[in-house]
Amino acid sequence: MFTAPAVPRPIARGVTSRRSNVDTNAHTCGYAGCGKMFARPGDLARHSKQHGIPQHPCDIPGCNRHGARAFYRADKLLDHQRKKHGRGN
Ligand SMILES: [Zn+2]
Ligand SMILES: [Zn+2]
Repeated sequence: MFTAPAVPRPIARGVTSRRSNVDTNAHTCGYAGCGKMFARPGDLARHSKQHGIPQHPCDIPGCNRHGARAFYRADKLLDHQRKKHGRGN
């Protein structure tokens, strides 16, 4: 294994271009007792595989929340369907 050496980079002083962590950790694992958070949906999807395939897929046509992207909990699925599809009222 060859890892790149730590190259010292010039650090822009006093400039904070990063936004606060609003965008990060926006995707939370819904598996009971896990609750891990990920910045990117792809990372969450990959992580979710370790829990197995979720048992609560969204059945709305055109929605991608099924298969590995389904929900682990029925209430999360219902919440999703209410918010994304306006269903359940
Ligand atoms: Zn998890
Ligand atoms: Zn859906």
